[in-house]
Amino acid sequence: MTSVVIQGVSWWSSSQFNKKQLTESIDNAQNVFEQYTKEKEKILTTAARVLTADFGFKQAVTTNDKETIASVLLNHGQRIDADLMLLTDLKGQLISSSISKLDLNAAQSASLGILLLEPGTTHFMILQNTLYQLLALPVKAPRTVAYAIVGFEIDYDIADELKRLTGLDVSFFNSAGEVITTSMELTNETLTPDYLTSKMLPWLLGSRSAFDSRQFELETTKKHPVKLFLTAELSTIYQEHDRLLSSTIVIACLIMLIAILLSRIFAKNLTKPLLQLVEQSKAFSKGQYAHVVPNQNISQEVAVLFEAFTEMGNALDAREQKIIYQSQHDTLTGLYNRHTFRQIINKTLINEQRHVLITIDIRGFSNLNDILGVQVGDRCLQMLAQRLIGINGNDVQHARLDGDVFLSLIPLTEDVHIDRYVQEFISDLAKPLDVDSLTLNLKFWAGIAIYPQDGSDAAAVFRRAMIALDYAAKDNTPVRYYHSGEEEARQEHLTIIEALRLALTKADGQLYMNYQPKLNLKTGEIDKVEALIRWKHPELGFVSPEVFISYAEQTGIIFDLTSWVIDTVLEQLSNWQKNGLFIDAAINISAQDISHPDFQMNLNNAAVKHNISPEYITLEVTERDLMQDEVQAVALLLELKEKGYTISVDDYGIGQSSLAKLKQLPVDELKIDKSFIMQLASSESDQIIVSSTITLGHRLGLSVVAEGLENNGSLDILRTMGCDHIQGYFLSKPLSANSFVEWLGSYYKNNI
Ligand code: C2E
Ligand code: CA
Ligand code: CA
Repeated sequence: MTSVVIQGVSWWSSSQFNKKQLTESIDNAQNVFEQYTKEKEKILTTAARVLTADFGFKQAVTTNDKETIASVLLNHGQRIDADLMLLTDLKGQLISSSISKLDLNAAQSASLGILLLEPGTTHFMILQNTLYQLLALPVKAPRTVAYAIVGFEIDYDIADELKRLTGLDVSFFNSAGEVITTSMELTNETLTPDYLTSKMLPWLLGSRSAFDSRQFELETTKKHPVKLFLTAELSTIYQEHDRLLSSTIVIACLIMLIAILLSRIFAKNLTKPLLQLVEQSKAFSKGQYAHVVPNQNISQEVAVLFEAFTEMGNALDAREQKIIYQSQHDTLTGLYNRHTFRQIINKTLINEQRHVLITIDIRGFSNLNDILGVQVGDRCLQMLAQRLIGINGNDVQHARLDGDVFLSLIPLTEDVHIDRYVQEFISDLAKPLDVDSLTLNLKFWAGIAIYPQDGSDAAAVFRRAMIALDYAAKDNTPVRYYHSGEEEARQEHLTIIEALRLALTKADGQLYMNYQPKLNLKTGEIDKVEALIRWKHPELGFVSPEVFISYAEQTGIIFDLTSWVIDTVLEQLSNWQKNGLFIDAAINISAQDISHPDFQMNLNNAAVKHNISPEYITLEVTERDLMQDEVQAVALLLELKEKGYTISVDDYGIGQSSLAKLKQLPVDELKIDKSFIMQLASSESDQIIVSSTITLGHRLGLSVVAEGLENNGSLDILRTMGCDHIQGYFLSKPLSANSFVEWLGSYYKNNI
């Protein structure tokens, strides 16, 4: 484009320059022509003066001596090389002529007359198809008697000479547009003023003027104007021009060709490698970081770029690998994390191949962290991870879950004895560990699930191994295998807990209290009841208190449950008291209630709220619960006892606590466990135990209750043994509050 524009502009300016040159040369030509005619005019003036001053000629004119006039005109004319010598009268009528047969028509004569009006000035005039430059001077003798006219013919030679002088063609036309004289080599028919001004030459798709002409009228008699055309023939200029144009086009084409060639070379050396790099960066975005090798020879600069790309790819690759590694591994130990391990076992546990999944928890790890510091703890975890990796072969996978829990998935062949294998595994792991300068003897809990026997899919095996670990910690067993059905039980457990939580908040009658009467054998009165909780769930149905109480104890909601029981029972007592029934109630409390800081406050608040004096309330605590946190229990029970509450040791006899210990506890009552009472009549050994328990209890100043009395025979035995209270189905099953009042009425009716 650039070359085309440059070439075009230079072509255009050269043509402008040519045009200007042309105009100038025409101007010049015009000057030359004027100069030329002036020179001729001078010659004519001199010649005419000489002629008109000639005495003989003057005389011949005055005498009208035609022969002499004619000969003078002829001689004189030849001498000055004039083409025309005339003598006219004052009106312009021809008297004599150097041309013998000159025959003027009227118009020409009139023209001559006009010529006479301006003597001494040259005029152009056409006479008999010939153009003359004429000049008239008066012949004075002494007054003007005639006019002498002298002229030169403007013929081809003159035109040619003018052409030579000006470099332009010279053409003269008459008023009819007919050529009179011309330097051009054209036939008279062709050459017209029109032809000179509008002749076109075909050029490319259009045309262009053949000539550049300037026309002007010559100084002449107005009646017979003569037009002069100064004409430049353009074809030669055109030739030059066309040569320039064609070379311009050739040069432009050449430049374009070179440009195309150069851009091809560029494309090869730059664009193609760049495109390759573009492709490469697309590959990068898809995570493909192959080494970038150029497909062709490349320049040094591009090679640097390729190197940079390769470096970038490597860096990206490394970083991505690192990110992937970090997302899959535990940063501390380098073992797999939970997420990845789950994926791995999903992939591994798909066929029948036996695998054991061992979960390991370090016992007391948080203590170790607290005492020796987190750094030692971390080192310990790292070394343990190394030990795990070292213990087993290649296809064994290990992971660390959050904290101090490790997992190992181990494929087992049929001949491997699992118990033995696990024992070895744990004992290898438990070898003394040298952490920094310390030697640690770590102990573990291990939970074990076996594929496929403990679960048909990876997720189940994983869950069950975790359940086994949970039980290992709860039961404090070093190695705990998963037992079939445990997960389902746990599930039920969760369902029950959730439902119980809801039941406690709703107070919609799902939970209610039953009361089981106690008979005072000394007075024969029903002076006590034991409050026992009942739960009837709309979907789960009747749930045994033995089940949900133990779940509530495990999950910590027992405190809320006991609070609810206390409130409900005290409200009931207050209702009864308002109706004149003053009776003791025994409430069962758990170990967690004793250790709860708010328990005592809760109890007192409820007593105040329902206006029940503590002497009406017995608290039943099992022998086992009492022994769990002895010091705290003693402190609490002392305070409660001081307030007036009665403390009873429930399920006495199965907790294997010595009476000596019992002696130190602030209790009021012993409740012999029902397992000793139910078959009392038929079991001699039970009788020995119960009898001695009653005796010893009394010695310690305690009141003794026998629960689980089912028959009359046992009642008699207990009576003779001096037991204070009895409770059991023989007397009554636990009853609702209303039923109890009814039962009480009928009891007294029958026993009085
Ligand atoms: P427990 O405190 O030893 O309660 C006595 C249990 O023996 C009651 O069972 C009662 O129905 C049953 N029983 C009474 N007489 C006889 C009899 O003659 N023969 C037989 N075979 N059984 C008899 P229940 O009501 O099923 O309660 C079971 C356990 O649930 C209770 O044992 C107690 O530990 C716990 N429990 C019940 N209610 C509450 C409560 O409100 N709070 C707390 N913390 N525990 C409760
Ligand atoms: Ca009880
Ligand atoms: Ca009991």
